[in-house]
Amino acid sequence: MRVRGSVKIGGLQFGGGAPVRVESMLKSRLEDTESCLAELEGLMAAGCELVRVAFPSADLYESLRTLVSRTEIPIMADIHFSHTLALAAMSGGCGSIRINPGNMSGREGLMSVIDAAKSDGVVIRIGANGGSLSAKQIAAAGGDRAAALVMAVEEQLTPLMESDFDDIIISAKSTSVSDTLLANTILSSRYTYPIHIGITEAGPGLEGAVKSAAGLGILLAQGIGDTMRVSLTGDSRTEVEVAYMIQRALGLRKRWLNLISCPGCGRRRVDVVSLANMTKEIIAGLEAVGKKLPEGFDVAVMGCEVNGPREAAAADIGVAGTQGGYVLFKHGSVIATGETSNLKTMLESCLSEFTVKK
Ligand code: SF4
Repeated sequence: MRVRGSVKIGGLQFGGGAPVRVESMLKSRLEDTESCLAELEGLMAAGCELVRVAFPSADLYESLRTLVSRTEIPIMADIHFSHTLALAAMSGGCGSIRINPGNMSGREGLMSVIDAAKSDGVVIRIGANGGSLSAKQIAAAGGDRAAALVMAVEEQLTPLMESDFDDIIISAKSTSVSDTLLANTILSSRYTYPIHIGITEAGPGLEGAVKSAAGLGILLAQGIGDTMRVSLTGDSRTEVEVAYMIQRALGLRKRWLNLISCPGCGRRRVDVVSLANMTKEIIAGLEAVGKKLPEGFDVAVMGCEVNGPREAAAADIGVAGTQGGYVLFKHGSVIATGETSNLKTMLESCLSEFTVKK
Protein backbone atom coordinates (compact mmCIF):
# COMPACT_ATOMS: atom_id res chain seq x y z
CA MET A 1 0.00 0.00 0.00
CA ARG A 2 1.27 3.49 -0.86
CA VAL A 3 2.22 5.68 2.07
CA ARG A 4 -0.24 8.53 2.26
CA GLY A 5 0.95 12.07 2.65
CA SER A 6 -0.09 14.28 5.50
CA VAL A 7 -0.80 17.93 6.25
CA LYS A 8 -1.22 19.85 9.47
CA ILE A 9 -3.98 22.30 10.26
CA GLY A 10 -3.71 24.10 13.57
CA GLY A 11 -1.14 21.55 14.68
CA LEU A 12 -3.46 18.63 13.97
CA GLN A 13 -2.26 16.01 11.49
CA PHE A 14 -4.49 14.88 8.65
CA GLY A 15 -3.44 11.78 6.74
CA GLY A 16 -0.14 9.92 6.99
CA GLY A 17 -1.57 7.37 9.41
CA ALA A 18 -3.34 9.85 11.72
CA PRO A 19 -6.84 8.88 12.86
CA VAL A 20 -9.52 9.68 10.31
CA ARG A 21 -10.46 13.23 11.27
CA VAL A 22 -14.05 14.23 11.83
CA GLU A 23 -15.26 17.45 10.26
CA SER A 24 -18.40 19.48 10.06
CA MET A 25 -19.50 22.78 8.60
CA LEU A 26 -21.05 25.69 10.46
CA LYS A 27 -24.72 26.10 9.74
CA SER A 28 -24.83 29.49 11.49
CA ARG A 29 -24.17 32.52 9.33
CA LEU A 30 -20.77 34.10 9.79
CA GLU A 31 -22.30 37.51 10.59
CA ASP A 32 -23.88 36.04 13.73
CA THR A 33 -20.71 35.61 15.78
CA GLU A 34 -22.38 34.47 18.99
CA SER A 35 -24.38 31.74 17.21
CA CYS A 36 -21.22 30.65 15.40
CA LEU A 37 -19.27 30.44 18.67
CA ALA A 38 -22.05 28.48 20.37
CA GLU A 39 -22.20 26.07 17.44
CA LEU A 40 -18.42 25.70 17.48
CA GLU A 41 -18.50 24.92 21.18
CA GLY A 42 -21.13 22.23 20.63
CA LEU A 43 -19.11 20.76 17.79
CA MET A 44 -15.95 20.69 19.89
CA ALA A 45 -17.77 18.96 22.72
CA ALA A 46 -19.02 16.38 20.23
CA GLY A 47 -15.45 15.69 19.08
CA CYS A 48 -15.32 17.67 15.84
CA GLU A 49 -11.74 18.31 14.71
CA LEU A 50 -12.07 20.74 11.81
CA VAL A 51 -14.90 23.12 10.99
CA ARG A 52 -15.54 24.58 7.56
CA VAL A 53 -17.03 28.05 7.51
CA ALA A 54 -18.63 29.69 4.49
CA PHE A 55 -16.83 32.99 3.83
CA PRO A 56 -18.90 34.53 1.04
CA SER A 57 -18.08 38.21 1.40
CA ALA A 58 -15.20 40.52 2.34
CA ASP A 59 -17.61 42.38 4.66
CA LEU A 60 -17.39 39.35 6.94
CA TYR A 61 -13.62 39.54 7.39
CA GLU A 62 -13.83 40.84 10.97
CA SER A 63 -16.38 38.17 11.86
CA LEU A 64 -14.12 35.46 10.49
CA ARG A 65 -11.09 36.86 12.29
CA THR A 66 -13.01 37.04 15.57
CA LEU A 67 -14.17 33.48 15.20
CA VAL A 68 -10.68 32.16 14.50
CA SER A 69 -9.25 34.07 17.46
CA ARG A 70 -11.94 32.90 19.88
CA THR A 71 -11.99 29.17 19.16
CA GLU A 72 -9.42 26.43 19.51
CA ILE A 73 -10.85 24.28 16.77
CA PRO A 74 -9.11 24.55 13.37
CA ILE A 75 -11.15 26.51 10.82
CA MET A 76 -11.29 25.99 7.07
CA ALA A 77 -12.69 28.95 5.15
CA ASP A 78 -14.90 27.95 2.25
CA ILE A 79 -14.31 30.28 -0.69
CA HIS A 80 -15.98 30.57 -4.05
CA PHE A 81 -14.61 32.49 -7.01
CA SER A 82 -12.63 35.25 -5.33
CA HIS A 83 -8.90 35.01 -4.76
CA THR A 84 -9.12 38.17 -2.62
CA LEU A 85 -11.43 36.33 -0.22
CA ALA A 86 -8.95 33.46 -0.07
CA LEU A 87 -6.17 35.93 0.75
CA ALA A 88 -8.37 37.61 3.37
CA ALA A 89 -9.18 34.27 5.01
CA MET A 90 -5.49 33.50 5.35
CA SER A 91 -4.65 36.91 6.74
CA GLY A 92 -7.56 36.43 9.15
CA GLY A 93 -5.78 33.43 10.61
CA CYS A 94 -7.47 30.46 8.89
CA GLY A 95 -5.12 27.50 8.77
CA SER A 96 -6.89 26.07 5.76
CA ILE A 97 -9.02 27.21 2.87
CA ARG A 98 -11.25 25.34 0.51
CA ILE A 99 -11.12 26.73 -3.00
CA ASN A 100 -11.83 25.70 -6.55
CA PRO A 101 -8.77 26.86 -8.50
CA GLY A 102 -10.84 26.54 -11.69
CA ASN A 103 -13.19 29.29 -10.68
CA MET A 104 -10.67 31.63 -9.05
CA SER A 105 -10.57 34.96 -10.79
CA GLY A 106 -7.60 34.62 -13.12
CA ARG A 107 -4.29 32.79 -13.06
CA GLU A 108 -2.51 35.66 -11.35
CA GLY A 109 -5.04 35.66 -8.53
CA LEU A 110 -4.64 31.94 -8.04
CA MET A 111 -0.85 32.27 -7.97
CA SER A 112 -1.11 34.93 -5.26
CA VAL A 113 -3.25 32.52 -3.19
CA ILE A 114 -0.74 29.70 -3.63
CA ASP A 115 2.18 31.99 -2.70
CA ALA A 116 0.40 33.21 0.43
CA ALA A 117 -0.55 29.66 1.43
CA LYS A 118 3.08 28.60 1.02
CA SER A 119 4.43 31.39 3.16
CA ASP A 120 1.70 31.09 5.85
CA GLY A 121 1.70 27.27 5.95
CA VAL A 122 -1.96 27.15 4.98
CA VAL A 123 -3.52 23.92 3.72
CA ILE A 124 -5.60 24.14 0.55
CA ARG A 125 -8.46 21.74 0.03
CA ILE A 126 -9.58 21.38 -3.54
CA GLY A 127 -12.16 19.08 -4.97
CA ALA A 128 -15.23 18.48 -7.01
CA ASN A 129 -18.85 17.84 -6.16
CA GLY A 130 -21.21 15.93 -8.42
CA GLY A 131 -23.54 18.91 -8.42
CA SER A 132 -20.92 21.33 -9.67
CA LEU A 133 -19.74 19.29 -12.64
CA SER A 134 -20.22 21.15 -15.90
CA ALA A 135 -21.92 19.64 -18.96
CA LYS A 136 -18.53 19.94 -20.67
CA GLN A 137 -16.78 17.90 -17.96
CA ILE A 138 -19.46 15.20 -18.03
CA ALA A 139 -19.33 15.03 -21.83
CA ALA A 140 -15.52 14.84 -21.77
CA ALA A 141 -15.81 11.83 -19.46
CA GLY A 142 -18.22 10.14 -21.87
CA GLY A 143 -21.14 10.66 -19.50
CA ASP A 144 -19.41 8.79 -16.66
CA ARG A 145 -19.96 11.06 -13.67
CA ALA A 146 -17.38 9.31 -11.48
CA ALA A 147 -14.73 9.76 -14.17
CA ALA A 148 -15.87 13.38 -14.56
CA LEU A 149 -15.34 13.92 -10.83
CA VAL A 150 -11.80 12.58 -11.11
CA MET A 151 -11.10 14.78 -14.12
CA ALA A 152 -12.47 17.83 -12.31
CA VAL A 153 -10.24 17.16 -9.31
CA GLU A 154 -7.23 16.71 -11.55
CA GLU A 155 -7.97 19.98 -13.35
CA GLN A 156 -7.89 21.71 -9.98
CA LEU A 157 -4.79 19.88 -8.86
CA THR A 158 -2.68 20.77 -11.88
CA PRO A 159 -1.91 24.42 -11.06
CA LEU A 160 -1.05 23.51 -7.45
CA MET A 161 1.27 20.71 -8.50
CA GLU A 162 2.89 22.91 -11.13
CA SER A 163 3.59 25.44 -8.38
CA ASP A 164 5.21 22.76 -6.21
CA PHE A 165 2.50 23.26 -3.60
CA ASP A 166 2.03 20.13 -1.50
CA ASP A 167 -0.15 21.03 1.47
CA ILE A 168 -3.26 19.77 -0.25
CA ILE A 169 -6.36 17.82 0.70
CA ILE A 170 -8.41 16.50 -2.20
CA SER A 171 -12.04 15.50 -2.35
CA ALA A 172 -14.55 14.06 -4.80
CA LYS A 173 -18.07 13.99 -3.46
CA SER A 174 -21.46 13.22 -4.86
CA THR A 175 -24.97 12.41 -3.73
CA SER A 176 -24.43 9.12 -5.54
CA VAL A 177 -22.73 6.55 -3.32
CA SER A 178 -21.43 4.57 -6.30
CA ASP A 179 -19.94 7.62 -8.05
CA THR A 180 -18.28 8.69 -4.79
CA LEU A 181 -16.83 5.22 -4.27
CA LEU A 182 -15.43 4.94 -7.76
CA ALA A 183 -14.02 8.46 -7.92
CA ASN A 184 -12.26 8.14 -4.57
CA THR A 185 -10.89 4.71 -5.36
CA ILE A 186 -9.30 6.10 -8.53
CA LEU A 187 -7.95 9.22 -6.80
CA SER A 188 -6.53 7.18 -3.97
CA SER A 189 -4.66 4.96 -6.42
CA ARG A 190 -3.19 7.95 -8.26
CA TYR A 191 -2.31 10.42 -5.50
CA THR A 192 -1.03 10.32 -1.96
CA TYR A 193 -2.58 13.61 -0.84
CA PRO A 194 -4.88 13.23 2.16
CA ILE A 195 -8.44 12.65 1.00
CA HIS A 196 -11.56 14.25 2.44
CA ILE A 197 -14.56 11.97 1.99
CA GLY A 198 -18.28 12.57 2.19
CA ILE A 199 -21.59 11.90 0.53
CA THR A 200 -23.06 15.29 -0.31
CA GLU A 201 -26.60 16.26 0.62
CA ALA A 202 -27.10 12.84 2.19
CA GLY A 203 -30.45 13.89 3.62
CA PRO A 204 -32.05 14.18 7.05
CA GLY A 205 -31.64 11.94 10.10
CA LEU A 206 -31.67 8.21 9.62
CA GLU A 207 -31.82 8.38 5.84
CA GLY A 208 -28.72 10.58 5.64
CA ALA A 209 -26.88 8.55 8.26
CA VAL A 210 -27.48 5.26 6.45
CA LYS A 211 -26.50 6.68 3.07
CA SER A 212 -23.33 8.14 4.55
CA ALA A 213 -22.52 4.93 6.40
CA ALA A 214 -22.95 2.89 3.22
CA GLY A 215 -20.62 5.06 1.18
CA LEU A 216 -18.08 6.19 3.73
CA GLY A 217 -17.98 2.80 5.45
CA ILE A 218 -16.91 1.07 2.24
CA LEU A 219 -14.22 3.67 1.57
CA LEU A 220 -12.89 3.63 5.13
CA ALA A 221 -12.83 -0.16 5.20
CA GLN A 222 -10.48 0.00 2.22
CA GLY A 223 -8.25 2.53 3.93
CA ILE A 224 -9.51 5.40 1.77
CA GLY A 225 -10.27 8.66 3.56
CA ASP A 226 -8.20 10.77 5.94
CA THR A 227 -10.89 13.19 6.99
CA MET A 228 -14.65 12.84 6.72
CA ARG A 229 -17.84 14.82 6.88
CA VAL A 230 -21.29 13.36 7.21
CA SER A 231 -23.52 15.96 5.52
CA LEU A 232 -26.89 15.89 7.20
CA THR A 233 -29.91 18.13 7.10
CA GLY A 234 -30.15 19.03 10.78
CA ASP A 235 -27.98 19.72 13.80
CA SER A 236 -24.27 19.83 12.90
CA ARG A 237 -23.43 17.87 16.09
CA THR A 238 -25.35 14.93 14.69
CA GLU A 239 -22.97 14.92 11.71
CA VAL A 240 -20.08 14.44 14.14
CA GLU A 241 -21.89 11.77 16.14
CA VAL A 242 -22.70 9.77 13.01
CA ALA A 243 -19.12 10.10 11.74
CA TYR A 244 -17.83 8.60 14.99
CA MET A 245 -20.48 5.89 14.90
CA ILE A 246 -19.32 4.88 11.42
CA GLN A 247 -15.69 4.80 12.56
CA ARG A 248 -16.61 2.91 15.72
CA ALA A 249 -18.53 0.31 13.73
CA LEU A 250 -15.39 -0.25 11.66
CA GLY A 251 -13.16 -0.40 14.72
CA LEU A 252 -11.24 2.69 13.59
CA ARG A 253 -11.93 5.05 16.48
CA LYS A 254 -13.74 4.62 19.74
CA ARG A 255 -15.73 7.43 21.20
CA TRP A 256 -18.51 7.52 23.72
CA LEU A 257 -20.36 4.56 25.00
CA ASN A 258 -21.14 1.70 22.67
CA LEU A 259 -24.56 0.25 23.43
CA ILE A 260 -24.97 -3.24 22.02
CA SER A 261 -28.47 -4.65 22.12
CA CYS A 262 -30.07 -7.66 20.54
CA PRO A 263 -33.12 -7.32 18.30
CA GLY A 264 -35.13 -9.65 20.56
CA CYS A 265 -36.80 -12.82 19.31
CA GLY A 266 -39.12 -15.56 20.51
CA ARG A 267 -36.57 -16.59 23.16
CA ARG A 268 -36.53 -13.23 24.88
CA ARG A 269 -37.25 -13.12 28.62
CA VAL A 270 -37.61 -9.35 28.81
CA ASP A 271 -38.76 -6.46 26.70
CA VAL A 272 -35.41 -5.55 25.16
CA VAL A 273 -36.53 -2.05 24.10
CA SER A 274 -37.59 -1.16 27.66
CA LEU A 275 -34.39 -2.65 29.11
CA ALA A 276 -32.26 -0.69 26.62
CA ASN A 277 -34.13 2.51 27.47
CA MET A 278 -33.70 1.85 31.19
CA THR A 279 -29.97 1.33 30.66
CA LYS A 280 -29.68 4.58 28.70
CA GLU A 281 -31.60 6.42 31.45
CA ILE A 282 -29.28 5.02 34.13
CA ILE A 283 -26.22 6.12 32.14
CA ALA A 284 -27.72 9.59 31.58
CA GLY A 285 -28.46 9.79 35.32
CA LEU A 286 -24.85 8.93 36.16
CA GLU A 287 -23.63 11.58 33.70
CA ALA A 288 -25.92 14.13 35.32
CA VAL A 289 -24.02 13.65 38.60
CA GLY A 290 -20.61 13.98 36.92
CA LYS A 291 -19.81 10.30 36.31
CA LYS A 292 -19.26 8.89 32.87
CA LEU A 293 -18.32 5.55 31.42
CA PRO A 294 -14.90 5.52 29.72
CA GLU A 295 -14.66 6.33 25.99
CA GLY A 296 -15.40 3.25 23.91
CA PHE A 297 -16.93 1.31 26.80
CA ASP A 298 -19.28 -1.43 25.55
CA VAL A 299 -22.57 -2.10 27.36
CA ALA A 300 -24.78 -4.94 26.17
CA VAL A 301 -28.53 -5.35 26.64
CA MET A 302 -29.71 -8.82 25.65
CA GLY A 303 -33.08 -10.50 25.66
CA CYS A 304 -32.14 -13.89 27.13
CA GLU A 305 -29.46 -15.48 29.27
CA VAL A 306 -29.09 -18.50 26.99
CA ASN A 307 -27.56 -16.66 24.04
CA GLY A 308 -27.11 -13.11 25.33
CA PRO A 309 -23.83 -13.30 27.29
CA ARG A 310 -22.19 -15.38 24.55
CA GLU A 311 -23.44 -13.21 21.68
CA ALA A 312 -22.26 -10.09 23.51
CA ALA A 313 -19.03 -11.55 24.87
CA ALA A 314 -17.10 -8.53 23.62
CA ALA A 315 -19.05 -6.19 25.90
CA ASP A 316 -17.36 -4.74 28.98
CA ILE A 317 -20.57 -5.21 30.89
CA GLY A 318 -23.98 -6.59 29.95
CA VAL A 319 -27.40 -7.47 31.20
CA ALA A 320 -29.62 -10.27 29.92
CA GLY A 321 -33.14 -11.33 30.85
CA THR A 322 -33.92 -14.63 32.61
CA GLN A 323 -37.18 -16.25 33.68
CA GLY A 324 -38.35 -13.70 36.27
CA GLY A 325 -35.05 -11.88 36.54
CA TYR A 326 -31.73 -11.06 34.96
CA VAL A 327 -28.04 -11.85 34.84
CA LEU A 328 -25.23 -9.33 34.72
CA PHE A 329 -22.20 -10.42 32.73
CA LYS A 330 -18.71 -9.16 32.07
CA HIS A 331 -16.94 -10.20 28.85
CA GLY A 332 -19.37 -13.08 28.50
CA SER A 333 -19.09 -14.43 32.07
CA VAL A 334 -22.00 -14.09 34.46
CA ILE A 335 -21.04 -12.02 37.52
CA ALA A 336 -24.42 -11.62 39.24
CA THR A 337 -27.99 -12.77 39.07
CA GLY A 338 -31.14 -11.20 40.48
CA GLU A 339 -34.85 -10.69 40.31
CA THR A 340 -36.66 -8.18 38.15
CA SER A 341 -37.65 -6.13 41.22
CA ASN A 342 -34.06 -5.04 41.93
CA LEU A 343 -32.81 -4.89 38.34
CA LYS A 344 -32.59 -1.10 38.13
CA THR A 345 -30.71 -0.75 41.42
CA MET A 346 -28.24 -3.51 40.58
CA LEU A 347 -27.61 -2.28 37.05
CA GLU A 348 -27.06 1.26 38.30
CA SER A 349 -24.63 0.15 40.96
CA CYS A 350 -22.78 -2.11 38.53
CA LEU A 351 -22.42 0.58 35.84
CA SER A 352 -21.42 3.14 38.44
CA GLU A 353 -18.38 1.02 39.38
CA PHE A 354 -16.95 1.53 35.90
CA THR A 355 -17.48 5.28 35.69
CA VAL A 356 -14.79 7.90 35.71
CA LYS A 357 -15.11 11.60 36.54
CA LYS A 358 -16.45 13.72 33.67
S1 SF4 B 1 -30.05 -12.67 22.86
FE1 SF4 B 1 -31.75 -14.11 23.15
S2 SF4 B 1 -33.57 -12.84 22.87
FE2 SF4 B 1 -31.90 -11.68 22.01
S3 SF4 B 1 -31.95 -12.20 19.85
FE3 SF4 B 1 -30.45 -13.57 20.83
S4 SF4 B 1 -31.65 -15.40 21.30
FE4 SF4 B 1 -33.16 -13.76 20.88
